Amino acid sequence: MSMSIDRTRLRQLLSREAAESTARNPRSKAAYEAADHLFGRVPMTWMNKNAGTFPRYLAGAHGARVTDIDGHEYIDFCLGDTGAMAGHSPAVVADAVERRFREQGGATAMLPTEDAEWVGAELTRRFGLPRWSFSLTATDANRWAIRLARAVTGRQKILFNSYCYHGSVDESLIVTGPEGRGATSRPGNVGAPCDVTLTSRVAEFNDLEGLERELAQGDVAAVLMEPALTNIGIVLPEPGYLEGVRELTRRHGVLLVNDETHTFSAGPGGATAAWALEPDILTIGKAVAGGVPAGAYGLSADLADRLLRRGDLDLVDMGGVGGTLAGNALSVAAMRATLEHVLTDSAFAAMSALSARFEQGVQSGIEKHGLPWSVSRLGARTEYRFTAPAPRTGTESAAASDPELEDFLHLWMANRGVLMTPFHNMALMCPATTEADVDAHTTLFAGALAELAG
Ligand code: PMP
Repeated sequence: MSMSIDRTRLRQLLSREAAESTARNPRSKAAYEAADHLFGRVPMTWMNKNAGTFPRYLAGAHGARVTDIDGHEYIDFCLGDTGAMAGHSPAVVADAVERRFREQGGATAMLPTEDAEWVGAELTRRFGLPRWSFSLTATDANRWAIRLARAVTGRQKILFNSYCYHGSVDESLIVTGPEGRGATSRPGNVGAPCDVTLTSRVAEFNDLEGLERELAQGDVAAVLMEPALTNIGIVLPEPGYLEGVRELTRRHGVLLVNDETHTFSAGPGGATAAWALEPDILTIGKAVAGGVPAGAYGLSADLADRLLRRGDLDLVDMGGVGGTLAGNALSVAAMRATLEHVLTDSAFAAMSALSARFEQGVQSGIEKHGLPWSVSRLGARTEYRFTAPAPRTGTESAAASDPELEDFLHLWMANRGVLMTPFHNMALMCPATTEADVDAHTTLFAGALAELAG
């Protein structure tokens, strides 16, 4: 809870903004109320995560702009929670999709295209790992990475950081118990196949002692982690932490899997290249095909060779790794266009500079009002949190959440034409984001804080 916020005033402002949001969006409200044939009234249950009482319905989106069916235009800092980090529907990706789907045809023929090797080589240039395979989501890339890690090490468990998020991966829904000790299922875990402590171990981010204690049990196949946590606010690694993780995993014969799905914002080769990390496996999804579903995992050459030599592993049919549409020609064409022309090295430099400007805008608002809040940045991604200094672990960051305050800020922004990422106070830059977009947020943020101060 933030100390200096008047809660009564906050609740009044929140209900005023909610009423304003309802009044501004009659068509979205009607569409939601009419959606009797959708589970939870939405195409996917997460779409009920929004600050009002119904989601705004999408009309269209290009670059850093979204329009809704009530005719409002938004500066979009959500960018599909990273799926649209390349900007919405970049023209060169649209062309590649059109070419592959309409002109050449064959989105899902279960046959390779020559684009795939181009993408594999480019991912190798960026992330360092030399052997790649594709999926449709980051969740699946993680699932398959986990299976391969268990197969090659002969060990059962995967270690995660508390309050991590890696998709709907059964093994990952684990958090530390009280005082950072022990382990338990993540609250709300839906229909777990078994007690998560049978499949997983957990340590706090930035806690090498806790990690060593868990790895010393000798049953961990892999540590699967984000180089910085990005799904519980941004929790940045302290100096020496990631080097320590690599040293401990090597010492205990444990594979290291970097999930770069969000930390890709750190630069063209994600945090792995930016911080010279040396994972054995790397997973990615979301932004990599410019909004077309695609994911990927990369393996070290040694790991790939060891797996391919194993005659007992069915990598070709129903052994549990792969999917019918994975590596399909359409996704691969979109990945090529995105990496070749949109999320280029120079695009990242510009996105990072904009994000630094965004961070400064938020910081100056926080300072002006003397709020005990912090702001953290990972390249093109910035997030503020209602606690200072910035949290060191996922558990600390989870403890600083303040849903009412978050809802107020989201609604304040949306009612004035700015979208932030639901679940977070997170803002992402894309190649089409401008300084004027960032400054519009800075002005609105200052206005929201002034309202809260009364
Ligand atoms: N890994 C990370 C780090 C993520 O943030 C997410 C989604 N937020 C995923 C994996 C899963 O991505 P998807 O839902 O697209 O499979």
